[in-house]
Amino acid sequence: MNMRESINTQRLQALDSAHHLHPFADYRLKDSQISRVIVKGEGAYIWDSEGNRLLDGMAGLWCMNVGYGRKSIADAVHAQMLQLTYYNSFFQTTHVPAVELAAKLVQISPPQFNHVFFVGSGSEGNDTIVRLVRHYWDKQGSPERQVIISRLNSYHGSTMAGASLGGWPSMHKQGGLPIPGIVHIGQPSYLEGGKGKTPEEFGLEAASWLEHKILEVGADKVAAFIGEPVQGAGGVIVPPSTYWPEIQRICNKYGILLVADEVVCGFGRLGHWFGSEYFGISPDLITFAKGVTSGYVPLGGVLVGDRVANALIEKGGEFNHGYTYSGHPIGCVAALENIRILEEEKIVDRVRTDSGPYLQKKFEALASHPLVGSAETIGFLGGLNLVKHKGATVHEHIPFESALSVGMICRAHMFDSGVIMRAIPGDRLLMSPPLTLTHAEIDEMIKLIGLGLDQTL
Ligand code: PLP
Repeated sequence: MNMRESINTQRLQALDSAHHLHPFADYRLKDSQISRVIVKGEGAYIWDSEGNRLLDGMAGLWCMNVGYGRKSIADAVHAQMLQLTYYNSFFQTTHVPAVELAAKLVQISPPQFNHVFFVGSGSEGNDTIVRLVRHYWDKQGSPERQVIISRLNSYHGSTMAGASLGGWPSMHKQGGLPIPGIVHIGQPSYLEGGKGKTPEEFGLEAASWLEHKILEVGADKVAAFIGEPVQGAGGVIVPPSTYWPEIQRICNKYGILLVADEVVCGFGRLGHWFGSEYFGISPDLITFAKGVTSGYVPLGGVLVGDRVANALIEKGGEFNHGYTYSGHPIGCVAALENIRILEEEKIVDRVRTDSGPYLQKKFEALASHPLVGSAETIGFLGGLNLVKHKGATVHEHIPFESALSVGMICRAHMFDSGVIMRAIPGDRLLMSPPLTLTHAEIDEMIKLIGLGLDQTL
């Protein structure tokens, strides 16, 4: 019996609609928005219950860095489940996978990182950041340094602190966010704000918003600045080259901790282990998740730089924070095997020197399509701006009247063509495929995206 015969799609869809509340969904529409049932993944492809094969241009949710179906990760997880399914590192215990993974992460991360705090997800990682930086300043004798500056249209997770850091008004509206002590500045989007300036000039201007905000809040009240090296879910906003070095300079000037949320950019997506290395900056803290296990098992964490770790070790006092699943052994062995694969297959190097530049050339050529105003990539991230009239310049993005729906329609056509992209408001389609794509798979993905665009015309 093949898989298609053994799966009753209609039954699953009916049960899904009856009982399953999906994340980020409008529940009034749930009966009309029937979901495809995904049943299998192999390499860069997934299959639905009707036997359709889809090239996963989003690597799940920006996470399947080594692709689907890796038997060696499944074997490592299986063996660990039999050896020690669960234990924790609370109250003077530890376990082999957490120790080995912490040491491995320190080995592959920039030199200022010698300590790791494990959590279960990116959101928990950013909650940990909020508590850790405030704990740090308290221990430094500056408890009034509470304020964390982040950026509008960034995404840092869905917990109360994560959603507060992320600057999405639609999320803030639900649940009375942001929590106290979190303020936002604008994003470094050249497309939106760069008119009449060079990218370099605009990068410096966007970084100067941080300094203005620090002075407005009062430098002695600011604890940290947090940003994704490249804003992912906010639209793959690639900052101009001058932006991050200037942000670093400003943080140094005022003694403010610099936090890189590397939940998307970490583990090879920009052709380096961490996206901050791409931009040549040295954060004090890094949040990671997703690519650390390539999504095989939930796991996240915070890399704690020497400035913070040494102060906390020296000053003492309990950090009252941790999760039952901090450093879950199953997640840790999945991460260790995932990192081994990334190293053995030289995947990070390939993204930097070979597949990344090839993808960039092919993806950016989509800008010649009549529906595309601009196409940007960096590493294995990409964004397409759909425009109503050809000829709109990078400064003159012309939105459709019904902004979201055209992007959604286009995404649906791409889905039917056999490739997955993500549509976000503002007619923008995003790409973040598995890092393992071959040149032939990149060619296929670009062809399928082109078909979806043609069908939307
Ligand atoms: N930070 C960034 C940059 C993200 O993109 C995400 C999720 O997409 C998160 C944090 C939250 O991670 P999680 O969904 O694992 O909680």
